[in-house]
Amino acid sequence: MSLLLTLNAGSSSIKFALFEPRPQGLERLAVGQVEGLGELAHFSAVTTAGERHEQPIDGAAADHSHALQGVLDWLRLSFPNREVAAVSHRVVHGGAEHVEPILLDDENRAQLETLVPLAPLHQPHNLAGIDAARLAFPQAQQVACFDTSFHRSHPFVSDTFALPRQYYEQGIRRYGFHGLSYEFISRQLKSRHPGLLAGRVIVAHLGNGASMCAMRAGRSVASTMGFTALDGLPMGTRCGQIDPGVLLYLVSERGMNAQSLTDLLYRNSGLKGMSGLSNDMRVLLASDLPSAREAVDYFVEQCRRELGGLAASLGGLDALVLTGGIGEHSAEVRSRLLRSMGWLGIDFDESANQAGAEEISLPRSSVRVLVLATDEERMLAEHAAELTALS
Ligand code: ADP
Repeated sequence: MSLLLTLNAGSSSIKFALFEPRPQGLERLAVGQVEGLGELAHFSAVTTAGERHEQPIDGAAADHSHALQGVLDWLRLSFPNREVAAVSHRVVHGGAEHVEPILLDDENRAQLETLVPLAPLHQPHNLAGIDAARLAFPQAQQVACFDTSFHRSHPFVSDTFALPRQYYEQGIRRYGFHGLSYEFISRQLKSRHPGLLAGRVIVAHLGNGASMCAMRAGRSVASTMGFTALDGLPMGTRCGQIDPGVLLYLVSERGMNAQSLTDLLYRNSGLKGMSGLSNDMRVLLASDLPSAREAVDYFVEQCRRELGGLAASLGGLDALVLTGGIGEHSAEVRSRLLRSMGWLGIDFDESANQAGAEEISLPRSSVRVLVLATDEERMLAEHAAELTALS
């Protein structure tokens, strides 16, 4: 039987998962990663059966090709005589045109290069992963799935900034991200809570990266992320919504340039920057430092504001879904957020919340509140299976 490999290639790591199409659906066989690209890289994988495999990757400054050679060697060893029929790539940006995943060929691969200026920190690494995979798995079909695709259904008012129209035409739009996560949740709603899918739903993906998506009838109508993955909620190390005047001030009065601003906004802000302690919500919740408490307070406050704003945009709310590392695992953050949202019709059940239940709203709540685990890798695999008729 053929296998399906999913890849999420970043600047210093490649995360992967291996799936097998079976009659009852896609079975996950293993997950793993190659970390430390550009330095001494390290391969690790664990199969669903619990077998672990770790080894250094050859090459003093291993790149994406070395990393995929490591994945290939492990596959030959752990799954002999099995062929990878499709590789599904997570690609951060699909521009305005890619509303669906695509089967890659030379032509559309070249077109994806033109989107690099829209996501210079991520897209080049995603493309390096694609190129390396085409060489390592020449017999496999290559699929690209875009984090922006799910949001292409935005109406114009949720897709634009209040800039002169020419900028919109030139591609300066509110693309939105985390699309694979939202699409997965939308499919979960369809299969587990079909009555809700038809309605007005906000999904809060609260992880190290964080955003919210407003959906109507299972389609995205607005997102808190915009042109880049910086906008909206504060994140582990990213600032979230900020007055653009602050950036103008930092440039004109403090002599900051594009590089130093990039470092500030992407790597040294958010929970990490505010607390001066950590980007990890668990560390902040356990800390007595006032700056840690303030960082969590700010995170919760911005979640409230965005939730209220998106609910207004939807004209009311039928369900809220919490997902991502914080959304799925932090009863405390969920509780602090939901406690103050009674005005929106949210009446939640603290004991169900603490117990980690899937539904944490009370029967009388006019908004149902669900906690659902997201699975972007499975979404990548499902797209590849659908596009290549492997399912
Ligand atoms: P990414 O966006 O990189 O995929 P995740 O979705 O894994 O990240 O989320 C990581 C975040 O989830 C971290 O801030 C981590 O502290 C937080 N997290 C994970 N488990 C818990 C928990 N039990 N309580 C609070 N925060 C948690």
